[in-house]
Amino acid sequence: MNVQEVRKMFPILDQQVNGKPLVYLDSAATSQKPKQVIDKIDDYYRRYNSNVHRGVHTLGTYATDGYEGAREKVRAFIKAKSTEEIIFTRGTTTAINLVASSYGRDNLGPEDEIVITPMEHHSNIIPWQQVARTTGATLKYIPLQKDGTIDLKDVEETVTDKTKIVSVMHVSNVLGSINPVKEIAKVAHKNGAVMVVDGAQSVPHMSVDVQDLDCDFYAFSSHKMCGPTGVGVLYGKKEHLEKMEPVEFGGEMIDFVGLYESTWKELPWKFEGGTPIIAGAIGLGEAIDFLNEIGMDNILEHEHKLAQYAISRLAEIDGVEVYGPKERAGVVTFNCDDVHPHDVATVLDAEGVAVRAGHHCAQPLMKWLDVTATARASFYLYNTEEDVDAFVNALIKTKEYFGDVFG
Ligand code: PLP
Repeated sequence: MNVQEVRKMFPILDQQVNGKPLVYLDSAATSQKPKQVIDKIDDYYRRYNSNVHRGVHTLGTYATDGYEGAREKVRAFIKAKSTEEIIFTRGTTTAINLVASSYGRDNLGPEDEIVITPMEHHSNIIPWQQVARTTGATLKYIPLQKDGTIDLKDVEETVTDKTKIVSVMHVSNVLGSINPVKEIAKVAHKNGAVMVVDGAQSVPHMSVDVQDLDCDFYAFSSHKMCGPTGVGVLYGKKEHLEKMEPVEFGGEMIDFVGLYESTWKELPWKFEGGTPIIAGAIGLGEAIDFLNEIGMDNILEHEHKLAQYAISRLAEIDGVEVYGPKERAGVVTFNCDDVHPHDVATVLDAEGVAVRAGHHCAQPLMKWLDVTATARASFYLYNTEEDVDAFVNALIKTKEYFGDVFG
């Protein structure tokens, strides 16, 4: 399938914004949804909307099959051993919070350390700050190299036998760097720690095998991978999940309830209190079918080419600084001399080009880069070289607009 055929599957892309054809370069924030995902959710609400795991009636059976079928699709997509290891959450943030609140609180004490990096998204910083505060554990950071990459020597030096949890993003939402999480997991395990991976920017863009990475927990969001908002996944090794306490209590997650004591369902349901995100999970399952049809290796290669093309075109404009290493996923973060990134994004928007501006939920990384904010263009399977050209041409207009401040 070529990119023009792929584009036809995304109805939202076929529109004008501010009188110009839409060029959507903000997929790292949230991706667009193909028609088949929209139709699948519509079909659920029109034909078999019903609660799951409860009734014996026919619609309830369809809904349960759809929901549990989606769990199996997720399992196969990230190559987990068993559906017991796949927990539906609201997204990456909730998934990491679950690990921090359950595993973190029960396994950390004042002598222990949690190790993360300064490039993490706030969702992979604040839960650990909170657990460190409540348990007395120490939060430590693996230093970054000048280009924003992680050197394994620094991992070896930072992770010690006091470390109980190492949590690192697989792909940076700002720098686009692809972190060596498999090697970091080896260092974590050698020291007796568990490895948590924030996969929000990797699962949508590349083939991920959680068993090969040998991570203990892996978190990601549906809305960044062509699926609906409001649903995400926590993968966890069964040996850990079995020992962990739920963090949400109520309906759906119980086995027996007495007046003073209750017991929990088996995995994975003990972590899914309340009516689950049924339509969301079914939509995510359809998004996985769609991504599999295109092929994750094709998606990665396509985005890699677009990012390299964008970087080479940006080099033509004086005053544009691009952050991050040369080898990267489909994210290009930049600044234009003294022009505030919000102003850059506003002028680009007037040209129909949607990019993100701000701190990208990575304030410690902004501090490390010594900037208050940046602009970011992020690419996905539906973007084209023409999108990159439109973006660069709009940036040239921005330069003309801001005159002396820029370049
Ligand atoms: N981690 C990374 C690397 C992200 O890019 C994001 C979202 O931008 C998140 C975590 C949080 O994802 P969500 O808001 O879907 O929970």
